[in-house]
Amino acid sequence: MKCSKCQTENKNDSKFCLSCGESLAVITPIDDGIRKSPSSNKRYSQGKDPTLAAILSLILPGLALGQFYNGDTLKGVVTLVGALILSFTIIGFLCVWAWSIVDAYQVAKGNKSLWK
Ligand SMILES: [Zn+2]
Repeated sequence: MKCSKCQTENKNDSKFCLSCGESLAVITPIDDGIRKSPSSNKRYSQGKDPTLAAILSLILPGLALGQFYNGDTLKGVVTLVGALILSFTIIGFLCVWAWSIVDAYQVAKGNKSLWK
């Protein structure tokens, strides 16, 4: 192992340079600290009935009542706006409708986290 400071050849297992005393330990990149546990700031709905959430989304298509019921207000608003925009096409509207039913059910069941 070569010393980075004085270029003296040292034994591979030596921690410090024999000539100048420079540390020979391999410098590992310092963790930036940004990495977080993926589940650390997720919120889940509690005590909600998945069937009721799905039915609420089912009976009034596009109103995202299931999302609001789950306390997922942000997602409810996004779903509402999405349904409004996509309601120009039946297919688009049906997609939002179907998605909101499945999503309301999954969130209420605790399989998916809330958006906020
Ligand atoms: Zn050295």
